[in-house]
Formats: sequence, structure tokens, C-alpha cells
Amino acid sequence: MSRPGSPGGQPGPEWNPSEPAPGGSTAVRDALPTPGDPEQAFAELQAGNRRFVTGTPRHPNQDAGHRAAVADGQHPFAVIVGCSDSRLAAEIIFDRGLGDLFVVRTAGHTVGPEVLGSVEYAVTVLRTPLVVVLGHDSCGAVQAARAADTTGTPPAGHLCAVVDAVVPSLRRAAAEGVDDIDRIVDIHIAQTVEAMLDRSAVLAAEVAAGRCAVVGMSYRLAAGEARAVTAVPGEARGVAAAPTGPGAVDGAQPAASAALA
Ligand SMILES: [Zn+2]
Repeated sequence: MSRPGSPGGQPGPEWNPSEPAPGGSTAVRDALPTPGDPEQAFAELQAGNRRFVTGTPRHPNQDAGHRAAVADGQHPFAVIVGCSDSRLAAEIIFDRGLGDLFVVRTAGHTVGPEVLGSVEYAVTVLRTPLVVVLGHDSCGAVQAARAADTTGTPPAGHLCAVVDAVVPSLRRAAAEGVDDIDRIVDIHIAQTVEAMLDRSAVLAAEVAAGRCAVVGMSYRLAAGEARAVTAVPGEARGVAAAPTGPGAVDGAQPAASAALA
């Protein structure tokens, strides 16, 4: 669906993908359209990630003209609830620019009230049609939680809150017989998607009404690829393919979808 104030996926007047960057740079600094529904938004993220992975980024929506164009209002097409890891910068790995992504980051993409409030603001006030939970392999927060859980020694200070938020995912991984750290990360991504929908009636209502979708994505630090591991409503709406292949989260999608029931 198109959102108020958005171009609904149609290219804006500044759309010119072949225009070279000012100053003679070999980079192409073009504008890209703002997707208006969950499917378009997810497709744009996938396209941007492909450009990043293949070393052909456009660096869209990053020039002075676009900066001025979005100064009076924002219509981000995706909320990224990502890990704070310094190698996981959303605008870079999805090859987007100013005004495109509403980014909330915590260590281990742990979700507290302020995070949920930020997500609810984006989906209800800004009418952002897609929420992505973005985790990654070798996540230090997940590793710290596993170390604390194994040794029984909680970390000092507020890091305890991060560990406590990850522990349910460790329990779920153990129940499923999963020990590989990167598969545990994928389970934690799915667990975070479910937790957000369980705790935020506002977000769940937006999803149930078809105005928003929530996708869990797992990023590979070395390859730069972000792949979907779970989605709500799921593949029936064409938002994401069912999880397959190495690292797929068994049962994650039905469990996540059940949260809406
Ligand atoms: Zn991390």
C-alpha cells in the first residue's frame, strides 16, 4: 500500500540512475525511490545488499541535493533493529542514504521499552512498512551471554541486561540441540522477532492489518551478505523466502507467525 507523503515506489523527480557523481567521481550518486509497502521495501534492501556484496554500490541519497530534500520530513521505508557491532552499519551494507532507514541498534539487538517505542514511532507515525531485525555471525553479545551462562558468572554493570535478554535464545538453542554459535545467532534473531511482536501490541496490530512486516536477517561479516531467516507474515506475502540451507532456523517461521494468532 502507498503511504501518505510517499511516492509509493515511483521514482521521484530526482531519479536518474545513470547520472555520474559531481566532481568527477566514478561513483554514481543517484537517488532511489522510497518503497511504499513491505514487499517493495524488502526488495529494495535485498537489491542494495547485492550491490554492496558485489562491490557495485550506488551510494544513493547521500548528496547535498537529497540532504536538502529530506530536511523537512522523513519517510524511511525500513526500520533496522540491529546489533551495535561496528561492522554492521545499516546504510552501508544495504547501500542506502539519508532518510531511507530508521535505525535502532543495541548490542545483540536486545529489545527493551525504548527500542519498542522507537519501532512503534516509525511504524505508526512515519508509516514505515518494514521492520528488520539484523543480527550477524560471531556476535560478541551472544558469545558473552553464552560465556556468562556457561560459567554462571554474570558480567558487571548494565551488560547484565544484554546477557539476560539473550539467555532465552540460548535456552531455545539448547532445547533444539544447537551448539554452533552462528546457528545460535540465527535462533536469537528469530527469538527477537517473536519477542517484539509479543511485547508490542502496536507492532502486532500493524502487521495483522497488513501495513507492516517484520523480517529477521542474518549478516555475514566477511561476505557482506544479509539473508532472511524468518519473516512475519512470511512467504505468503512474498516478503521473504522460507529459510533454507545452512543456518536455517528450523521451525522459526511457524513459531513467529503463531505470535500473531
Ligand atoms: Zn553483535
